[in-house]
Amino acid sequence: MTKILDGKALALTLRSKVKEEVATLRDAGHRAPHLAAILVGEDGASMTYVNSKEKDCEYVGFESSVYRLGADTTEEALLSHIASINNNKNIDGLIVQLPVPKHIDATKITESIHPDIDVDGFHTLNVGKLTIDEDTYISATPFGVIMMLEEYGIETRGKHCVVIGRSNIVGRPMSILMSQGGRDATVTICHRHTHDVGAFTRIADIVIVAVGIPEFLKPDMVKEGATVIDVGITRVDADNKRGYLLKGDVEYDTVKEKCSAITPVPGGVGPMTRYGLLHNTLKSYKNKFNL
Ligand code: NAD
Repeated sequence: MTKILDGKALALTLRSKVKEEVATLRDAGHRAPHLAAILVGEDGASMTYVNSKEKDCEYVGFESSVYRLGADTTEEALLSHIASINNNKNIDGLIVQLPVPKHIDATKITESIHPDIDVDGFHTLNVGKLTIDEDTYISATPFGVIMMLEEYGIETRGKHCVVIGRSNIVGRPMSILMSQGGRDATVTICHRHTHDVGAFTRIADIVIVAVGIPEFLKPDMVKEGATVIDVGITRVDADNKRGYLLKGDVEYDTVKEKCSAITPVPGGVGPMTRYGLLHNTLKSYKNKFNL
């Protein structure tokens, strides 16, 4: 029987543990961990993500500050906002929700966040640490996937893992993590220039898909008994109340019949990503106070 890797349930359990830990810290007289988020403009998906992060903070007992800035905010103004948060000792984590409007240089913004509070793990210093196995903030989505594999006891050592997608926030860090000591997978990365992705995925024990193309991975691309992790989330128009449906990168109903374990969309990697951010914020807080 195919194991459904239920990210929603797992994230709830992990979030409850964070909540308990925060309550214990507060009982001992410590202040609450504090996550700040900056949102520039009114992108619908970004607004939803930031609202969820705010709700998650409330649930676990973190303080949260959300700065909602207009789409016409200048790069200079945003940088000065970030600088003031960097200097605020009461803030443990800062994220700037991407994408930012086109007139703002996203790399410049990412690099301006102090690495100690870069809980998204996008700063080059933190990415560099990841590549040489040093302790760092692992960006939330790859972290969530790793946690999920661990918690569900999916064996990775000596397995062939194919990661589809090489973005800085998902595919590339994912491939590094899977090859690291402890996980010890043999990793292949496929991307938009790969000829015949199926030739690689058909010999994979674990397939991690992050391309942003709904139902990209079909059953004839998957080996019998493989584990399939679907990172993709695309809004497709639908005749429902919200006007859209969330679709993953995997043709779920058919691929499910072939593999041994699979993540659904929604309810798979998404909630684990949200947990990843809480984990990193707590980590920053504990580092600050040597806890
Ligand atoms: P991206 O657009 O930055 O990268 C997409 C990658 O897919 C690229 O590296 C590209 O080379 C590769 N690609 C494109 N077409 C391909 C093809 N035909 N064959 C093979 N590779 C191909 O996207 P991203 O930021 O990495 O996000 C990927 C997906 O994951 C999106 O749907 C995004 O919404 C989703 N996502 C989900 C979460 C979550 O929490 N679940 C978090 C981040 C991103």
